[in-house]
Amino acid sequence: MAGIGSLSDRNAVSALWGYSYYNTGANAIQAVQEGEEKHRDDRSACGHSGFLVNTYEYNFRRSASKRYSLMQGIKHLKGMSRYQVHNCMTYLPDQGAQGVEVVKRESGQVAFKNLKYCSSVWLCPVCSSRIASARRNELGQAVKNSGGYTALITFTLAHSNADKLEDLLKALRKALNSTKSGRWYESFLVEHEITASASSLEFTHGDNGWHPHIHWLIFTKSKPKAGRLQEQLNERFGNFVRKNGRYSSAFHGVNVKASRDDISGYISKWNIIEELSNVQAKRGRGESLTAWQLAQLAVNGDQEAEALWLEYAKATYRKKALQWSRGARELCGLNEEKQDDELAQEDTTPEEEHVITFTPEEWYFIEDHLLIGEMHHAIMEGGAQGANALMIRIRGKPLKELAGA
Ligand SMILES: [Zn+2]
Repeated sequence: MAGIGSLSDRNAVSALWGYSYYNTGANAIQAVQEGEEKHRDDRSACGHSGFLVNTYEYNFRRSASKRYSLMQGIKHLKGMSRYQVHNCMTYLPDQGAQGVEVVKRESGQVAFKNLKYCSSVWLCPVCSSRIASARRNELGQAVKNSGGYTALITFTLAHSNADKLEDLLKALRKALNSTKSGRWYESFLVEHEITASASSLEFTHGDNGWHPHIHWLIFTKSKPKAGRLQEQLNERFGNFVRKNGRYSSAFHGVNVKASRDDISGYISKWNIIEELSNVQAKRGRGESLTAWQLAQLAVNGDQEAEALWLEYAKATYRKKALQWSRGARELCGLNEEKQDDELAQEDTTPEEEHVITFTPEEWYFIEDHLLIGEMHHAIMEGGAQGANALMIRIRGKPLKELAGA
């Protein structure tokens, strides 16, 4: 891979060729962004008009392209060479492949094969999206299968701009582990007839700094008593937070939601990568950003966001995004849990159609010039010919597979 320039060089190259899909027309239809599977279901169930179908399709495609672009941008942020995301989508010549094959799935998705995916759930938008989609399906299945009730409990602690994410996270996890221990906890489980649970870790960043929070989804046999849950947990969790020298608000430290809408809303949006088109060069005051939005800001050149992203990378290293309680998966009728790398690498859809194979050299060129997202978009729009047109535009010569034919 010769001739890798600086990131700014490459941004200049990308800008020159124009990420045409990058900022176009997304705002009006933002509400229907993302959540690929969900939208597909909605679409068939509700029989939307052609216009809406196209809107969904269009946004879905653009979102995927943007995830590839963002991943490539993240690779080159400060400190990222030490993380797996740095090697995401690198070519695997040792598997006997002649190049990087692009296939089109029956679902309309375009996939790149013979590549190593990094399977980083925190740092890679491409892999995170693949992993989260599988985990989200499982959460939904579990709620369906459990046959009982569910409640969603969120734990947070007070924080300021001066707090390091790693410290906040440590304090939060410590207080929660203490809360969920000992005889108190055993009788708490019995009282509320809690049979299983899953907890997930999430982050946002706002004016008051990092805001890590843990969502705890509990499965119960009887209808959850939200008020009682809140009262008990607030007291106990709050005590442990204070013991660790921190503070949790009686109003915000523990939040309990038990309505069907709350739960299904939570699950359908679980770890979805939000629309990134609106991320500008600078963040607005009072804005709360997700890690992906921070990454996008950093890639756009915001140095403060870049430092925050690195801090986030360190703090999330080796942390699990979703953790089931012991025996929960069996109880909720789920199969054995797959690891992140299996989910990121796995090709589950057998129906696919060959689009084009890039030679290793062509792939290195695309990778070097941060054009995976652009290429994905060109293929979604115009198939092999779209890929060829882009290649001619940026490199001045056609793809080998087409030129040789
Ligand atoms: Zn990846």
